[in-house]
Amino acid sequence: MNIVASAAQAKHILHTAKQLNTLADRCVKCGMCLPHCPTYHLTRDESESPRGRIALIQGLTGGQLAYSDKLETHLENCLKCRACERVCPSLVPYGELIDGALTHIAREVAPQSARRLRLLNFVTQPATLRTLAKLLRVYQRSGLRALLRGSGLLKVLGLARQDRLLPSLHTVHPWQAYYPAQNTPRGDVALFTGCIADAFDQATSRAAIQVLTQLGYGVHVPPGQRCCGALHLHNQQPEQASALAQENLAAFGGLDVQAIINTASGCGATLKEYLALNPGADSFTRKVVDISTFIASVPWPENVMLKPLKARVAVHDPCSLTHVLRQHEAPYAMLRKIPEIELGSLPDRARCCGAAGSYMLTHPTQADALRDEKLSNIEQLDTRILVTSNIGCALHLAAGLREKHLSIEVMHQTTLLARQVIQAH
Ligand code: SF4
Ligand code: SF4
Repeated sequence: MNIVASAAQAKHILHTAKQLNTLADRCVKCGMCLPHCPTYHLTRDESESPRGRIALIQGLTGGQLAYSDKLETHLENCLKCRACERVCPSLVPYGELIDGALTHIAREVAPQSARRLRLLNFVTQPATLRTLAKLLRVYQRSGLRALLRGSGLLKVLGLARQDRLLPSLHTVHPWQAYYPAQNTPRGDVALFTGCIADAFDQATSRAAIQVLTQLGYGVHVPPGQRCCGALHLHNQQPEQASALAQENLAAFGGLDVQAIINTASGCGATLKEYLALNPGADSFTRKVVDISTFIASVPWPENVMLKPLKARVAVHDPCSLTHVLRQHEAPYAMLRKIPEIELGSLPDRARCCGAAGSYMLTHPTQADALRDEKLSNIEQLDTRILVTSNIGCALHLAAGLREKHLSIEVMHQTTLLARQVIQAH
């Protein structure tokens, strides 16, 4: 990863205090965003609302407010779900503003603050993550997990939460570089497999390849692809995010494909914003599309049948799909292709579940409070299956369901669709 070269590319997303102040000035303080903000919903505290946070940024960057630990905590408590941005009549670019302000504080105002997330570099390396997944699988199956849980050592080491989030891990397989079409050919697409999803949820990528090849697409899985950079971008490391963008642009750049398909909407939201990290990313970002949007939009071949599913399926809408990509209807449209399926959307479906990237690890109290509301709503739907487009939401919600001993299977909607496909012939 060439951080030095990427520092220049990322330079234009580093904001000065004056630039941040100008962005914050766009807020007219109307308050229309407040009812949509999950942290305001939990606290009813103005400083935990979008309007309050923007006022804090305005004060800090305009020189009226001094930096304080409390001020930074209010900003860091933001989930970056961008529900506020979607409803703002003044089009305040809140996502850009909060990331810019936190990076500005980390670089210029309080670089000594020790509590910021230090990202592990292995997140950027799918091969290393796959090795970690293999080791964790041994840990789960050897009895070591039960031993450590029973001894209380996980709590002492501060790893109990991470342990609870781990799904039941399966063997991790390498990908072929190309999967040929299994039906009348319609051209080629490329698949972005992600890093966490590739290590902990290969079932979704396998399902995507199965469905896409059945629909007649050849699927490239470029071996040089890396982490999308979302965690870095939202944790004050834009240079690393830009370096990862460079590597992904190179990995996908030479392919003659109709679309670059992502399965995790959190990755898709970041891939779509590569233009901010690299001015030459235009042709890449135009081709990036979420799997549900792609499948819902292409004609379904007559020779690919779907088995009926007589069941109620709950759908959780991730913030990345709802507020950033704004394609939250696509999973429903895709799943309605399954005969007899009954889809149940959750009340307050636009509210974040608390996963929010690394937030579920860094802010457990708020993350669990938001999750508990979702879980009660899911329980009321009386369902056995929950689908969601984002790996982070899936891990967070599945961990909560396990803790409550609720027997509900959590999966990506593409996995459910693939289960119902009857092979073309
Ligand atoms: S909706 Fe927009 S303009 Fe109104 S308070 Fe919220 S951020 Fe400011
Ligand atoms: S991004 Fe989400 S949590 Fe943060 S201020 Fe906006 S609505 Fe609230």
